[in-house]
Amino acid sequence: MADLTLDDVSKVFVENDGNEITAVDDVSLEIDDGEFLVLVGPSGCGKSTTLRMVAGLETVSSGEIRLDDRVINDRQPKERDIAMVFQSYALYPHMTVRENMSFGLEESTDMPDDEIASVVAEAAEMLGIDELLDRKPDDLSGGQQQRVALGRAIVRDPEVFLLDEPLSNLDAKLRAQMRTELQRLQEELDVATIYVTHDQTEAMTMADKIAILDDGQLQQVGTPLECYHEPENLFVAGFIGEPSMNFFDVSLDTADERLVHDDFDYALSAETQSALDGTEALVLGIRPEDISIGGDADDDHRYETVVDVVEPMGNENNVYLTFEEGDGSETFVATIDGLERVEEGERVVAHVPEDAIHVFDRRTGRALR
Ligand code: ATP
Repeated sequence: MADLTLDDVSKVFVENDGNEITAVDDVSLEIDDGEFLVLVGPSGCGKSTTLRMVAGLETVSSGEIRLDDRVINDRQPKERDIAMVFQSYALYPHMTVRENMSFGLEESTDMPDDEIASVVAEAAEMLGIDELLDRKPDDLSGGQQQRVALGRAIVRDPEVFLLDEPLSNLDAKLRAQMRTELQRLQEELDVATIYVTHDQTEAMTMADKIAILDDGQLQQVGTPLECYHEPENLFVAGFIGEPSMNFFDVSLDTADERLVHDDFDYALSAETQSALDGTEALVLGIRPEDISIGGDADDDHRYETVVDVVEPMGNENNVYLTFEEGDGSETFVATIDGLERVEEGERVVAHVPEDAIHVFDRRTGRALR
């Protein structure tokens, strides 16, 4: 078991025409022994390249990758004690489940056959596939194939576990079930794990720690709740949370102690105003679930709005609203209890409490509050 460290790791791809693509840009991460880190970000942000460098499938352009204090940049994949599970599972179709799981151990270790058999049996039992050991991959469901791919990684007893979008080929229900199973498994194995996904829900529900990547650069590393409640910048604020945070371009009016938007003013306490440090061009961010409906529109932080669209989600409704005083071009979404009835076209008062607002510097994207 080991801690995995990435220290200022970059990857530059050079294309045939000499053009350089920085896929991973000075990324530093620490994954402690037993920790479950989810690396999340939009398509093309450098997640897989980061994982492939850790696995040794891609060279490192600069920086260091370490297992405890051993630098592993130049070690062959086989010598790294790292197991990777791919999105495609990459099972051998002509081999049985048992053979798929034991093959790696037979090839790369001198473990005796009876020990391999017992390690495979143990992993198969852990994964609930012990009944399937004599089947071929084609005779398995997607979820079962996924378990075999995991089993093949587990039997190697790796120091680090890498998972690249392992659930993306499964249907929604099975994916939800496998998320829980994977978490349980990771806890049982107690091994440093990096799990790559572009799905922020997966990241929020599974991670001990989330690392959010955009355009090759780390945006924030923290617990799911830290990233949700205290996003460090506009990108993280918009990426984490479903539906996404509402954003409004506003300017600071220090004389009147307000944020000013074409459609509304937002009164600020002295404390909030001082956090903004005189920055004038700002973005106000409000999570849909922080907006409630009701009350008197004459009070601070309550606004007359018109219901544009209601999206029933069962236990919740996503209600798209426009400001009654505005020109109707600015729509924002509030998530309210599913039992609260509002109709399209209805006038409602929306309440945005001050302790829930986020404010960002529009120029740098940095969170000021
Ligand atoms: P996805 O979620 O779509 O798999 P990702 O976040 O895993 O995306 P990467 O596959 O790591 O992203 O790619 C990061 C960037 O590096 C992209 O711009 C991609 O086009 C580029 N890239 C990846 N591999 C190569 C390569 N072998 N040669 C040139 N560019 C590459």
